[in-house]
Amino acid sequence: MPVVVAVAVPVPALPALSYRVPDGMQVPPVGGRVRVPLGRRVVTGCVVGDGEDDAGGGSGPRAGSVELRDLLESLDPEPYLPGDVVHLALWVAEYYACGPGEALAAAMPPLAFSRSGSGAGFRMERVVRITLAGHDALVAGTAGRLGPRQRAALQRLAGAGDGLPAARLREDGVAAQTVARLRDRGLVTVDARRVERDPFASADAEPTGSASGAGAREPTPEQRTALEALVALAEERAFRVALLHGVTGSGKTEVYLRLARGVVAAGRRVLVLVPEIALTPAVVETFRRAFGDRVAIQHSGLSPGARHDQWHRIRRGEVAVVVGTRSAVFAPLDALGLVVVDEEHDTSYKQEESPRYHARSVAIVRAQRAGALAVLGSATPSLETFHHARRGRYRCVVMAERVHRRPLPEVQVVDMRAEAAAAGADVVLSRPLGDALEGTLARGEQALILLNRRGFAAAVLCRQCGRTLECPNCSVSLTLHRRAGRVRCHYCNYSGARPSTCAHCAGPYLDTVGFGTERIEADVAERFPGVGIARFDRDTVRRRGAGPSLLARFREGAIDVLVGTQMIAKGHDFPNVTLVGVVSADVGLQVADFRAAERTFQLLTQVAGRAGRGDRPGTAIVQSFHPEHYGIVHACRQAYGPFFDEEMRYRTALRYPPVLSMVNAVVRGRSLTDAMRDAGRLAGELRTAAAAFQVLGPAVAPISRLRGQHRAQIFLKGRNRRAMRSALRAALDANPDLGRRVIVDVDPVSLL
Ligand code: ADP
Ligand code: ZN
Repeated sequence: MPVVVAVAVPVPALPALSYRVPDGMQVPPVGGRVRVPLGRRVVTGCVVGDGEDDAGGGSGPRAGSVELRDLLESLDPEPYLPGDVVHLALWVAEYYACGPGEALAAAMPPLAFSRSGSGAGFRMERVVRITLAGHDALVAGTAGRLGPRQRAALQRLAGAGDGLPAARLREDGVAAQTVARLRDRGLVTVDARRVERDPFASADAEPTGSASGAGAREPTPEQRTALEALVALAEERAFRVALLHGVTGSGKTEVYLRLARGVVAAGRRVLVLVPEIALTPAVVETFRRAFGDRVAIQHSGLSPGARHDQWHRIRRGEVAVVVGTRSAVFAPLDALGLVVVDEEHDTSYKQEESPRYHARSVAIVRAQRAGALAVLGSATPSLETFHHARRGRYRCVVMAERVHRRPLPEVQVVDMRAEAAAAGADVVLSRPLGDALEGTLARGEQALILLNRRGFAAAVLCRQCGRTLECPNCSVSLTLHRRAGRVRCHYCNYSGARPSTCAHCAGPYLDTVGFGTERIEADVAERFPGVGIARFDRDTVRRRGAGPSLLARFREGAIDVLVGTQMIAKGHDFPNVTLVGVVSADVGLQVADFRAAERTFQLLTQVAGRAGRGDRPGTAIVQSFHPEHYGIVHACRQAYGPFFDEEMRYRTALRYPPVLSMVNAVVRGRSLTDAMRDAGRLAGELRTAAAAFQVLGPAVAPISRLRGQHRAQIFLKGRNRRAMRSALRAALDANPDLGRRVIVDVDPVSLL
């Protein structure tokens, strides 16, 4: 009987394929990479289990063709990915209805699926070391036999303990031929050595590995109580989930850190997930100061090389703690005792391309399999998480006060209907916000101004024909970016020169509607000349390192007012910020999404929570045309409980998550008619299969055209995700041409 293995290949939506292990080849382990023929190509895949040599039968992984083909090469005698990570990826593929190869690709470090060899991707350097014969040559007075250059090089090497990189010698003026000649004479050796690319190369503080800074001060009584509860859970060494519900500024980071210390001291490892490291370097810094070399960082802002090196350090078991973004949930860490998901409500945990996984859900599954504690932390928990906590499935640990009993910010709502009546319809900064800003600056304090829309104007409108300028690829208006002199699509990144006449009627009277961060920046600069103003949004932080450096300048006080999108609402901790202004609380309410109120509540609560984190109390001023909206009202009182209750009434009445589960299927087509027809066909098939769930649609998607493709949508709603997934899979497998045009999103976070 030939040995047959199942191999996941990096091709979308393809199941694992069976291949025969040829005679004489050692059977590759699960998690090992192999080279396999696929059609006429050869690709690198990953062994995920036993295959089936009977192509016709069985329910397991299917054979790619009737004839089983042979593996061409086995790249790893030992598993490249640990078995538990392979199984986690297979769970992701199953749960999120994607191919195992796509899920595994998310778990692999950069370069792992590239050509071959486990050494691929490491950075190597050549190191020159003096030999004993070299030392002898220096001291033996055989000067005549050493040229002056050779002697100088040997002297340099004799003073360097563990040799010197060849590149360094070259910089010091030692020619390559000199080194070659010394090596030929046996006076030096030249070896390749692996160097770790340093992910902290641009950071200023040195890791100390000591207990200085965070973690050294006394925990507050609330922190202590929270810690006691969490430590007790961790010590059970069994799967548990806890929600750390701590208001903004309650000191959650300190709790994670102390908890992590205990887990590491007990010989287990820790995974800490954060939303976006470039925006919130503070958590990384805290852990790095505490754990020094024993912490690894994983996020997409690192160069592929640095990420690769960090991954291998984790894989070799050299670190106790991994801090990273979404994809770090797959970090090859064993003996896991604790998984922390900081700011668990953050939408960046959801990957919006295949595999469309939610890192919070994957983290919980990972903790379950490892018998570890998962801690989800937030001041504004997702409805899903709080729902579980309410029903007792998650342990809820509360920190209701800020550290040192600092007050939460005072929030004032400005009714923009009244402002517009008094000051004109195009008012942007209300009088209360303008006055507060003036006072803040006069006192030498700092302000954050939020508007969750970038660009100068939301749209360009023709006064003659009344049409707005649309993206050529998407059914959305183009945003005006004035300084760049361009119009841009925020969905597909299309960019064009700012037109002077209308594209439809050639009329010359173009006007702008709505405003974005660029406009706010300009208005504030005009009103407060000489004040340091900067903007923090995707446009200004696109360059690697730009985000952290802007934040650092704001922290140092070189910037007084920081205007930005939701990026300024992340976990930042700026003690001198006493004023937070929200130019329009309504931006997020206008979105066609059942989570619009939840998003708005979270954003407002979080951004207001940036004020008054130091010695002086803070104020937030929120402008809105719907000041009576419950999302805004509760955010202004920082009242999570009442918001949750009201939002749950709505979700229950309209049958939305977390009351039940949802799957979104987007059908793409060459025309909207095509897309709607195909979606209708799919909906019909699902309806005949459906007993356990509801099928809604087809409907035109909120963004009916995206990147040149027309889009129709179907929602499945029900309690049984498995039933929904398998019905979808069966319908798509039966219509493979349709399958390629459908995007399946399980537990969708964005419905556009
Ligand atoms: P959160 O994430 O809950 O909003 P942070 O973890 O950012 O809060 O902490 C808020 C601020 O309080 C930070 O400046 C932090 O350094 C400080 N802090 C936290 N715990 C303590 C403590 N026990 N004593 C003094 N300051 C603390
Ligand atoms: Zn577009």
